[in-house]
Amino acid sequence: MPIVRIGVLGAGTMGHGIAHAAIAGGYQTRLYDVSPAAVDTARGAIEQIVRKGVELGKVGGADADAMLARLSVTTSLSEALADADMVIEAAPERIDLKLQLFQQIDQLAPAGAVIASNTSALSITEMAGSIANPSRVGGMHFFNPVHKMKLIEIVRALESAPATLEAIAEVSRRMGKETVLVRESPGFITTRVNASIGNEAFYMLMEGVASARDIDTALKLGLNHPMGPFELVDLVGLDTRLSILEYLHRSLGEKYRPCPLLAQYVKAGRLGRKVGKGVYDY
Ligand code: NAD
Repeated sequence: MPIVRIGVLGAGTMGHGIAHAAIAGGYQTRLYDVSPAAVDTARGAIEQIVRKGVELGKVGGADADAMLARLSVTTSLSEALADADMVIEAAPERIDLKLQLFQQIDQLAPAGAVIASNTSALSITEMAGSIANPSRVGGMHFFNPVHKMKLIEIVRALESAPATLEAIAEVSRRMGKETVLVRESPGFITTRVNASIGNEAFYMLMEGVASARDIDTALKLGLNHPMGPFELVDLVGLDTRLSILEYLHRSLGEKYRPCPLLAQYVKAGRLGRKVGKGVYDY
């Protein structure tokens, strides 16, 4: 069954970007949030991305109008789900909340709808296992900011049907994204590699191998990374990075043990740009 209507659940940082990608891909899109303020802000943010696209000559005026006409926002979950062919869940990263939402999707969405979760780390198999037909669930991991980032990691949960993964891949293509397929495992591809590089950089700093600046410069100019690992962790947040490494360490073993220097920075309150100091001072 071709996908025509998409319901996006959660209108925050990721949800508004996903809804934008969906209208750009030609889908009738309903963006839902529990918070009326969040849907208003999200609509404004989507309009701004579309306007910017027109200014830059990437989107024609008529296309922009057509895109925005495909968007509706709502605080009614049944309205968002009633006739959805696909549901993309982008609610906060808490398993209790996601499991509850999956129960509601199971009751309110058509039985044939494909269900995708944008979780960064939680088990999609667990979410799928909480509904009657787990084969219609898969992972669809977008990157922030969605309108600029080309990749979607498609995650195969234990019982994801091939047709579910194909539907997610087709929607991703129409959104203009490239995809990779990952078997569900902690950190997928990107979070796992990124956390390893960041941890290794902290070990090198702790051992006095080089200064933070020189490690960042080496990865940018020698390895063509767009940002150095310390610039990046200051943006992500050192506390967020530490909790990701603790999770990878628990689930994948010793090689992900968080570097003691990273843990010490977190204890010192050097959490990154958001507090004005991390590896660097701002
Ligand atoms: P966010 O906090 O910016 O947005 C979450 C939104 O969900 C909020 O607007 C909140 O009001 C709403 N919400 C709360 N309860 C809800 C419910 N029961 N039903 C629907 N909406 C509800 O969070 P975010 O950064 O957009 O993250 C959303 C998901 O995307 C998480 O699973 C996160 O792990 C994942 N993710 C985040 C990033 C990122 O860089 N921020 C990247 C990839 C994936």
